[in-house]
Amino acid sequence: MTTDTLTRTANVILLGPPGVGKGTQAQILVDQLGMVQLSTGDMLREAKASGSEMGKRVAEVMARGDLVTDEIVIGLIEEKLANTEAAGFIFDGFPRTLAQADALESLLQKTGQSLDAVIEMQVDDEILVQRIVGRAEQAKAAGQPVRADDNEESLKIRLTEYYKKTSPLIGYYHAKGALKSINGMGQIDEIAQGLGAIVKEAMA
Ligand code: AMP
Repeated sequence: MTTDTLTRTANVILLGPPGVGKGTQAQILVDQLGMVQLSTGDMLREAKASGSEMGKRVAEVMARGDLVTDEIVIGLIEEKLANTEAAGFIFDGFPRTLAQADALESLLQKTGQSLDAVIEMQVDDEILVQRIVGRAEQAKAAGQPVRADDNEESLKIRLTEYYKKTSPLIGYYHAKGALKSINGMGQIDEIAQGLGAIVKEAMA
């Protein structure tokens, strides 16, 4: 890691529907800029795999494609923020509701941090379905476990949840002057370049 990346930092939200590529792009930002990815989806899947009480409670909700409660995901993020040092956080799949957005703002304030950019990744719904069904098929072919919510039925619910509860965040962050949008439909490295430029600008 260069001194440059060590001294500059930014906290960034990746916003967009399921399958838009938030996780893939967050991973690239981790590799290139030394940031830390905070994915509530990954945290919840870990809780489920560990067999904890909370994991058992959320498993069915997640498989169906519904959102888990604000209280649970805010608790997960609060714990990570309190225990992680980072050259910036990438929030991937959080916040997903206005209550979560408010909670994130006060959690960051509490630790003397700020939110530096909210990047909306845009893509056609048809492509999302193809990507998610493709992700399930690839995993199956490679003998890897398929996500319980990577099927057409759950995807429909995940998309409805996104438009109903998460997409209002686009207007909310736009009004705050924090929103940037990028096209999520190109090649992975093209999108990564565009995203990287926005994040570096936010670090300045
Ligand atoms: P993801 O990996 O981000 O697609 O999340 C998978 C599933 O985990 C979602 O469909 C929800 O059931 C749950 N989940 C992840 N993040 C959140 C969140 N911020 N708020 C509520 N539910 C979430």
